[in-house]
Amino acid sequence: LLLVAVADRGRRLLERATTDALTGLPNRATFLERARRELARAERSGSSLALVMLDIDRFKRFNDVYGHQAGDRVLALAGRAVAGAVRGIDVAGRYGGEEIVLVLVDVECEAALAAVERVRAAIAAVRVPNVPEAVTASAGIALHHGAFDRADVAALVKRADQALYRSKEAGRDRATLEPRGSERPTSPAEVRYR
Ligand code: GH3
Ligand code: MG
Ligand code: MG
Repeated sequence: LLLVAVADRGRRLLERATTDALTGLPNRATFLERARRELARAERSGSSLALVMLDIDRFKRFNDVYGHQAGDRVLALAGRAVAGAVRGIDVAGRYGGEEIVLVLVDVECEAALAAVERVRAAIAAVRVPNVPEAVTASAGIALHHGAFDRADVAALVKRADQALYRSKEAGRDRATLEPRGSERPTSPAEVRYR
């Protein structure tokens, strides 16, 4: 019985250390570790994945108008909504304050855009009591082709962030797939190890 109790306590401690308390999503460190694992898997198997950065729109104003507590409740519900909108094999995490990050495994651009649209709609559907307004989110998507791209998670996050910035610039409440840069390899023969 004691061993069971110790194991149970260990499990709870591990859970607390790897999960963001407000949203219930994996925290940043846990997300990054899982993302690295998926990236390595994609490069081994030659499959594609998408790294998505989501950021709630004008959230500072939302807090100012409805209070920080209402903001917290939106974040908590948004976290749950996002977790429910992606597949079990995908990886989600709370990256920072009102930023949620995803790795969608085994997707090309169309499937990635469709998944991000589902996530966007799930966030937009979140409501908290006594708040007559919804929040929207903007997204940036970076695609990684395991067969011939070589990048680390930090580089993918940076590219997704740049695409997110374009979504914000274009008016928010939308997703942007990164443009294919001229220096990106398009076939295995062009692979450059960066
Ligand atoms: P933008 O559309 O450009 O993203 O505008 P924004 O207001 O969302 O962006 P900004 O980065 O200026 O502000 C983010 C705000 O998110 C700041 C802070 O008040 C809020 N925020 C961050 N973390 C939390 C949190 O845990 N709880 C609550 N309630 N608010 C948070
Ligand atoms: Mg932000
Ligand atoms: Mg924001």
